[in-house]
Order: sequence, then structure tokens, then C-alpha cells
Amino acid sequence: MIDTHCHLIDPQFKRDFDAVLKRAREAGVSRIINAGYDIETSNQAVAQGKKFNWLLPAVGIHPNEAAEEMIKEMEKIEEIVTREKVVAIGETGLDYYRDFSPRGAQKELFRKHIHIAKKHSLPLLIHTRRSIDDALHILQEEGYQCGVFHCYSGSYEQARVILDMGFHLGFAGVVTFSRRAQEIVTRLPIDKILLETDAPFLAPAGHRGQRNEPSFIIETLQSVSTAMGMSPLRLEEIVDRNATTLFSL
Ligand SMILES: [Zn+2]
Repeated sequence: MIDTHCHLIDPQFKRDFDAVLKRAREAGVSRIINAGYDIETSNQAVAQGKKFNWLLPAVGIHPNEAAEEMIKEMEKIEEIVTREKVVAIGETGLDYYRDFSPRGAQKELFRKHIHIAKKHSLPLLIHTRRSIDDALHILQEEGYQCGVFHCYSGSYEQARVILDMGFHLGFAGVVTFSRRAQEIVTRLPIDKILLETDAPFLAPAGHRGQRNEPSFIIETLQSVSTAMGMSPLRLEEIVDRNATTLFSL
């Protein structure tokens, strides 16, 4: 089982990193896409990938990280991409919910990520909160349609637009307790769906309020497979194949 979006570089994993990896292995997690959210954590994701070849690095600057000052830092992200093997660009996107950074700066920062992804033919890990339409608009303008809208929280109608453009949709622990998300996921074409934890955030139903970790992805798999009326094994096969294709694994 592939966890397609996780932040093992988060300080919350410092204390028991090895135990977290061990539990993931025991639960059947075969690979983890490990996304940085600033320069330091992007470098850490690369370093962790060198130590453990099943941790696949993605590099980028999260829109909540003071976008204005970060725009010039994007050169450093490109340096990493040129020098190292990474599987995706992100986490990037737009966040109008927390609104930590001015929207104009967020948009510019997002465009910089798209340029790098396009230049290096890498998929994007896209974060959106109350910003899907603007994100789609920018992606259309930039003419790049490869990646995943991770931890999808939009409507069914928006999901259709996203899929029609050629993107994938990632579902995290929220789908285990949100009826709305469950209803959406069961209506979508299964070959465009990815599963993820977004750990340490957004733990699934049995662990709400706790730190999330990759081993918990099995609970999300079980919950979604029940909602879809198929065996977890079959769903795992499908979503892993989707991830393998999108991230060229
Ligand atoms: Zn994330």
C-alpha cells in the first residue's frame, strides 16, 4: 500500500521516527511520498529518501509559509530538483481558509512551483482550501495538468472539473468520518483516486485528535473499500496502480 502524501519530516515524528516506520511496514505500507513544506523540510525529505529508499521525496513550499518571502527561495527548490531524485513538486497550492499569506503572493509562489514541475515533467502535490477554482484557473493558464489535488475537500462538481482537466484526487483520513467525502469518492472514476494520510495531520476516525501516521492508511483503505462495496485488497491494487502511474514509480 502506497501512502501518497505524508510529512515524515515534521518535528512530530522526531521522537519515534524508527518506530513509525516499523509500524508502517508491519501494516503493509510499501512506499511513502514524503513531502517537504519549506526549504529545510524539502532537504530533509531528500535526506530521508537516501537513507530509506521506500520514502520518496517531494519538494516544495506550502502556501501557508509566508509566501512573499518564499518566492525568491524557489531557486533553492529548483536546485534540489536538478541535483536529486524527487517524485513530485509540492506541497504547493493556495490556502484561503487559513489565509496566512497574501493571496497574490500565494498565487505567484504556486506559479513558480508549476514552472518547475513543467520543466522537469514532475507531478504536482496541490493543496487547496476554499481555493479550488483559483487553483484550476492558474493551472489552466500555465498549461500544466499533471498532479493530485490532495486531501480533497471540494464538491462533486468541482471534482469532475479537476478530473476532466487530467488531475488525480487524493483522499485522506477525513473520508473515514465525513459522509460528504464518502459520497463523493464513491461517485468518481476509480482510476483517478489516490489514498494518503497527510500525517501527522488529519488522523482517520479511530484516531481523531491524535497524531496521524502512515500505518493508519489501512483504516482509510478499509473505510473507502466498504463505502465502494469492494474488498480492501482490490481497492489497494487499484489505488496503488494509480499512484505508480502518476508518480512514475
Ligand atoms: Zn500535506
